[in-house]
Amino acid sequence: MELVVAGPADEALLLDLLNTTPVIDGVAHDELAESRAARKWLRDRGVAPTDAQLAALREVRPVLQGVVRGEAKPAALHGFLDGVRLEPTVSGSGLDWRLAVDDAAARVVLAWDALRISSPGRLRPCANTECRLFLLDRSKPNTARWCSMAVCGNRMKARRHYRRTRT
Ligand SMILES: [Zn+2]
Repeated sequence: MELVVAGPADEALLLDLLNTTPVIDGVAHDELAESRAARKWLRDRGVAPTDAQLAALREVRPVLQGVVRGEAKPAALHGFLDGVRLEPTVSGSGLDWRLAVDDAAARVVLAWDALRISSPGRLRPCANTECRLFLLDRSKPNTARWCSMAVCGNRMKARRHYRRTRT
């Protein structure tokens, strides 16, 4: 029995969710705070734009952010996996099993765990401590430090340069 727990769309949903609380110019934002924008956000990612899905994602988000930052234990994710179940179907040669996940919060938790196993350490917080974003490093050397080279990478480089030239 081979079971696919999470695919690229689930990983993208996870990373996007983790990154919905950016700090811009020192001010914390929440891209899921406003109901209309949040519904569009859900629809764009193939999630049913319902109050229940939105509430569940808002609830699991800080827990997952804490776990990825190493500030919370994975046990905190307990309770977000209700409704995940195995569904058998009879095929020509026997049974096929499929994981049924109706809940978007469960989807991102499963995606987090699948990445933990397949790509350990590659989902991590941006090295810019003033940035609250996360990155998923798919590069071979696995040395990416910034959520975005264009934003945080250059900002940190400029800061180091500024310090060097001052001293
Ligand atoms: Zn960053």
